[in-house]
Amino acid sequence: MDPSGKLIIGYERVSSPATFRGVDAARGTEMEPPFAAAGKAEVDRACALADSAFDTYRGLDIEARARFLECCADKIVALGDALIVRAERESGLPRARLEGERGRTVGQLRLFAATVRKGDWLGLRIDPALPDRAPLPRPDLRQRKIPLGPVAVFGASNFPLAFSAAGGDTASALAAGCPVIVKAHPAHPGTSELAAGAIRDAAEECGVPEGVFSHLSGPSNELGASLVNDPRIKAVGFTGSRAGGLALMKLAAARPERIPVYAEMSSINPVLLMPGALKTRADALGQAFAASLTMGTGQFCTNPGLVLALESSDLDRFAASATEALSKIAAGQMLTRGIRANYCNGVARLKSHAKVSHLGSGLEAGEGTFGTAALFQVSARDFLADTALGEEVFGPSSLVVRCHDIDELIAVLHGLEGQLTATLHMEADDHGDARQLLPLLERKVGRILVNGWPTGVEVSPAMVHGGPFPATSDSRSTSVGTLAIDRFLRPVCYQNMPGDLLPPELTDGNPQRFRRLFDGNY
Ligand code: NAP
Repeated sequence: MDPSGKLIIGYERVSSPATFRGVDAARGTEMEPPFAAAGKAEVDRACALADSAFDTYRGLDIEARARFLECCADKIVALGDALIVRAERESGLPRARLEGERGRTVGQLRLFAATVRKGDWLGLRIDPALPDRAPLPRPDLRQRKIPLGPVAVFGASNFPLAFSAAGGDTASALAAGCPVIVKAHPAHPGTSELAAGAIRDAAEECGVPEGVFSHLSGPSNELGASLVNDPRIKAVGFTGSRAGGLALMKLAAARPERIPVYAEMSSINPVLLMPGALKTRADALGQAFAASLTMGTGQFCTNPGLVLALESSDLDRFAASATEALSKIAAGQMLTRGIRANYCNGVARLKSHAKVSHLGSGLEAGEGTFGTAALFQVSARDFLADTALGEEVFGPSSLVVRCHDIDELIAVLHGLEGQLTATLHMEADDHGDARQLLPLLERKVGRILVNGWPTGVEVSPAMVHGGPFPATSDSRSTSVGTLAIDRFLRPVCYQNMPGDLLPPELTDGNPQRFRRLFDGNY
């Protein structure tokens, strides 16, 4: 099946006179078909439908909502190879990676279906009335969480399946009971439309109200801006650049009604090589680091862009091993020409920096769309003197910061912006230093890993893929894992509400047997 080039507004597939084309990532050539470019009228229609579908959708039986999510997963699987072939051409990502990403996409839809059924996300609390309490009686108070309303989801260029039309933001918003309008990423309009078509078909088949899902594409900022500005949109999910995330946050903050923007933006994911770990396995660490840095041509938000360690001959061994390993790694395809140009500029900036030395690079691939890995090093003192050295270079580039002592390492960590992850490589004799660092790491990041690599994010209940600004715009949440549903919910309290007017999950009978906090106890 090929993409049609049409927008999906509710159940309808819609053309528009204005069109744009997707680009073959490897060849740089325009692809068929032309894609409809949505304008204000299409945004208005999608938002009107989403708004009118909202109450019916959130009022659906929990089982019906879970079945809908599972049906979305089934329909994506049923797209078969067509989805992978299109994604390969548009993103340049290899087939094995895309097949894995499809598995993650359908896996997270099914995980959210299971989460919806459990009902914990409803946050049910009941404080029964205390009519005889002195000096004042307590009213009957019952709380549950309800969905926010229609959500605008911006697809991410680096995850054409798992963080795009049918990705994590869409799955968590639909699970919460929110209609979703996807703004497709212009780098993969066909992949996005195919996945969106699967959700559209699932919605119709499951009898989900029309407007619960729409998919709009277009080549310019204006589409995303008019979506965020529409008063019927009640939250935004975004993964991409800091500039893009900040622009959307600014638009949302300028609306008469402010809305939350959950933007995942930039992170350099410091990796701390503790002395004990360096002493016992510097060579192996260098090789494993090179593999993590170049996975997916470094185009992961969790790429290890910064390495911190104390000066030693073991650190020299690590640097030599990593440089040697990188020198054998072929340049990889980058997602778009724009992303490659940003990457090359970032690497050139580091190469020309007076205080930074270039340790080595991966194999060159000449012009075109390939990105060559690069490794640099700098002293902690010079790093601390130039905050620009802490900025993300999106791609397979990393900077080793050499610290004189643990106090200097702590000073470097203090100066870092918020991050998605921090990684500690350590042995038992490093635990004393690690204990000292942990409170600071907790303040800086959303996930702290030990003896692993930050690339690779498990989709599960305990995962946090978030962190203080600018890793994300709101450190209180995660965009991966089941807790992501919380971003699209808010609590409502019912005081002295007659039983026949209460939602079933808050009635005395608790027909669905959901877990509830009753008078302060589960
Ligand atoms: P992007 O430029 O931030 O675009 C992401 C999405 O946001 C696109 O749909 C884009 O659509 C929209 N958008 C961007 N700016 C906007 C604005 N001012 N108003 C309204 N909509 C806006 O990200 P990208 O295209 O994926 O990559 C560009 C750079 O982002 C990369 O070089 C890299 O530095 C960074 N990046 C970081 C991560 C990460 O996880 N940290 C992931 C991907 C990319 P339009 O372009 O159509 O407006």
